[in-house]
Amino acid sequence: MIAVVKDSATEEQLAHFVSWLEAKGLTAHISRGEDSTIIGLVGDTSLIDPFLLEGMDIIERVQRVSEPFKAANRKFHPADTVIDCGYGVQLGGDSFQIIAGPCSVEGDNLLPIARACKQAGATMLRGGAFKPRTSPYSNQGMGAAGLDLLCEAREELQMPIVTEILDPRDLELFVDRKIDVLQIGARNSQNFNLLKEVGKTQIPVLLKRGLSGTIDELLMSAEYIMSEGNPHVILCERGIRTYETRTRNTFDLSAVAVLQHLSHLPVVADPSHAVGYTRYVGKMALAATAAGANGLEIEVHDNPSAAWSDGGQALTPDQFARVCSQVRAIRAALA
Ligand code: PEP
Ligand code: MN
Repeated sequence: MIAVVKDSATEEQLAHFVSWLEAKGLTAHISRGEDSTIIGLVGDTSLIDPFLLEGMDIIERVQRVSEPFKAANRKFHPADTVIDCGYGVQLGGDSFQIIAGPCSVEGDNLLPIARACKQAGATMLRGGAFKPRTSPYSNQGMGAAGLDLLCEAREELQMPIVTEILDPRDLELFVDRKIDVLQIGARNSQNFNLLKEVGKTQIPVLLKRGLSGTIDELLMSAEYIMSEGNPHVILCERGIRTYETRTRNTFDLSAVAVLQHLSHLPVVADPSHAVGYTRYVGKMALAATAAGANGLEIEVHDNPSAAWSDGGQALTPDQFARVCSQVRAIRAALA
């Protein structure tokens, strides 16, 4: 539910109204625009009588909103959110960022891969230290030692790092190392306890769409993080499970446009996990760029056939460099 506040309302009246709402168990998100002030009522609004609100002196009008997401909703926050990822990297709005690196942090090869990614045009480095593998017998990642390698690469290259957190109990490891962006993977997209815990930090979160997650479910997951107080959420389309078997997942590029319509949060596209085969990644990266994504996440490996995970979808540094220059051409054409 949204309440548009009358121009004549005083701060005191507004504060009184907010405490009235809070007494009803609701939270108020106040958004002050140039022309009007809007209050987003978060919580169970089913017991609130809109006519009662409209009868109040300070309320211009009230609108029921069908979408259950509020903090992520563009209706309450018309301007694009731009997220400061550190090292001068802003994600969102008109900017465009390329996140690249190996699926798993594996050891000494991280640095050369990271250097090549930066050289080609990547602005953020990715790499998984804690890996969510379908089989418990597959390599689970280097853990904290992998985070340390990412930090070393960050130090040399002066670029923010993005890495996945699987378990709220590991959060301290990420906080201690000042990890720039926490990735929540597809398998944890609805791990509500994890979402709430990262929501208690102010660390930017790259939130991936669930394996079979709808757009609304992704937005509600963002809502979990934001409602705890962390507004720095980046949405990520990484393909969804469909009946198609020729690609690992089905890249739902329309989700980029729909998410940007519904939400002010930046939307990154991950063609690597979406298609699952190196041969298609480049073309889909270009398509996502043309579709208006705010950035890309792409897996890059210096020796894909030896990669610990996702070698079949990794680009070599040379392939990645070519994709980056094509992406730049598309961005220039769109400008
Ligand atoms: C990854 O980024 O390596 C990853 C596991 O991605 P997803 O959660 O999208 O499968
Ligand atoms: Mn991967």
